[in-house]
Amino acid sequence: MSRDPRNAITRRAAIIGGGLLAAAGALSSPALAKMPFAKAQAPGYFRRKLGDFEVTAVLDGDIDLELKLFSGDAAEMQRLSAQSYQPSPPRIHCNAFAVNTGEKLYLVDTGTGVLLGSSLGRVAENLVLAGINVDQIDAILLTHLHPDHFGGMTMEGRPVFKNAEIYVAEADAKFWLSAEVADKAPTDFKPFFEMAVAAIKPYAHRLKPLPAKGEIASGVSAIALPGHTVGHTGYLFASGKEQMLVWGDVVHNAALQFERPEWTFAADTDREQAAAARKRAFDMVATDKLLVAGMHLPYPGLGFVEKAGAQYRYHADFWSTKL
Ligand SMILES: [Zn+2]
Repeated sequence: MSRDPRNAITRRAAIIGGGLLAAAGALSSPALAKMPFAKAQAPGYFRRKLGDFEVTAVLDGDIDLELKLFSGDAAEMQRLSAQSYQPSPPRIHCNAFAVNTGEKLYLVDTGTGVLLGSSLGRVAENLVLAGINVDQIDAILLTHLHPDHFGGMTMEGRPVFKNAEIYVAEADAKFWLSAEVADKAPTDFKPFFEMAVAAIKPYAHRLKPLPAKGEIASGVSAIALPGHTVGHTGYLFASGKEQMLVWGDVVHNAALQFERPEWTFAADTDREQAAAARKRAFDMVATDKLLVAGMHLPYPGLGFVEKAGAQYRYHADFWSTKL
């Protein structure tokens, strides 16, 4: 048992104290019992063990993502969305995942920073609330170079993670950091290239290519899942008998894409390849019963996938006191 008796005592004192206060309020002044509304969300972090590793999911925030951005039939998408009680308009979460292997502290993706509005950008704050100092991050593993994944790395030209090395697939670096590719890109897409260059710039001397065979360290390896971007990458963490695939953007909308994995998303660079990567990832995690960590799965973005005929079902992870 890792329970700290001091916490138990504090908790008991809080419960008893709260009870006494409420009782006093009821007796003397009913107004005392009125609790002001918090009007702000609670901190967004969730912790679990993976073998000997410790995983902390941190929430960046939420953002609208209209159904029309997906390739499915409009009425069928609407039906699946309603069936899952998705908010209307549909919103998705952005998550990042810190993994402490005992040797190194990794952060997979960094959220949006200030790039995509005030409903997002909470990764650094939630890391700190979870007891993780951003200076303690040894390496950032990027799933791909889209702004909702690299945006939290850099603030006003300065690195947020001062001691971190950056791993990113060479194919993505060659694409999103290339002035030549950016020149040929449609005008609407040009800002994405500029944002990627600005985010990576302060880390230029600490940029690491992914190893050819994928192994970054013992129990930490990269798995190519191209399609959403040319170098879109998942990261597999393995400790003891447990494994977790951090699969980046294999799923953008859980209500739609587990049921219809063939439905693609407007930001996929190669839609056909993205759908193939999704089916491959689903089969892998369903067959081997791997824990999945998804950047756009409903927060905390951790769960399991069950194969159900030609479709799949998602089961959210279970919060536990056991760490
Ligand atoms: Zn994304």
